Amino acid sequence: ATALSVKDLSFSYGGKKALDHVGFEIQAGECAVLLGPNGAGKSTLFALITRLYDARSGRIELCGFDIKKQTSKALGRLGVVFQQSTLDMDLTVMQNLDYHAALHGMGGKFAKQRIQQELERLNMYERRKEKIRQLNGGHRRRVEIARALLHKPSLLLLDEPTVGLDVPSRQDIVEYVHHLAKDENIAVLWATHLIDEIFPEDKLIILHKGQIEAAGSVAEILQQTG
Ligand code: ADP
Ligand code: ADP
Repeated sequence: ATALSVKDLSFSYGGKKALDHVGFEIQAGECAVLLGPNGAGKSTLFALITRLYDARSGRIELCGFDIKKQTSKALGRLGVVFQQSTLDMDLTVMQNLDYHAALHGMGGKFAKQRIQQELERLNMYERRKEKIRQLNGGHRRRVEIARALLHKPSLLLLDEPTVGLDVPSRQDIVEYVHHLAKDENIAVLWATHLIDEIFPEDKLIILHKGQIEAAGSVAEILQQTG
């Protein structure tokens, strides 16, 4: 099944082109790494997929739902980990997740169970009563990933999720997300400029100055680029 379909997407800030006829698809279970230097257009693409901005041309579909015409259905299939943390620092882990569950229409025992499940998988359940402020960067990232997964999205977007983390935390998160794609059949779109976060089985999407320079498996791209 196609989790994300982006077709002929263009976007400009005033007169400045940030995305130029971008198109690609991500299937369920696939981990796609969006690779590109600063200014390539990664954040702009994420802003369009999350509907922070509106594309004037092109089309984005999540699980077949058009994000402009079927917005709530489409966005309901999406989980996001932004580059800047959006957790409430003065609330506990549990309070942050409760709030997100409520936003997605989950409550009561069901919400508690889902929260416990996701936190346990990330080894964060014992810390559920701690305030976000008390946690280190790696643990905060785990809470954000648990939160993004709470409503069982079909596509998980992560915008440079390892920036500022120490090496062990980075490795944990890279591995966790890759296993998630495989084991839970979730589609992942991971933006990074760090090539050591790519696994051999990943799909690569290389963005440069707003255009897709290459897309395909790691082996295919190595052949294309020599
Ligand atoms: P990233 O870390 O993803 O590369 P940037 O550093 O490019 O993000 O951008 C950080 C913020 O500054 C974003 O809100 C972005 O929209 C804004 N921004 C980036 N480039 C420009 C620009 N040339 N003019 C105005 N705002 C910009
Ligand atoms: P990336 O996330 O890959 O670093 P961005 O999407 O932030 O790339 O930026 C793509 C292009 O758009 C860059 O040339 C950047 O300077 C420009 N840009 C980003 N945000 C803004 C903004 N708010 N206003 C003007 N230009 C922007």
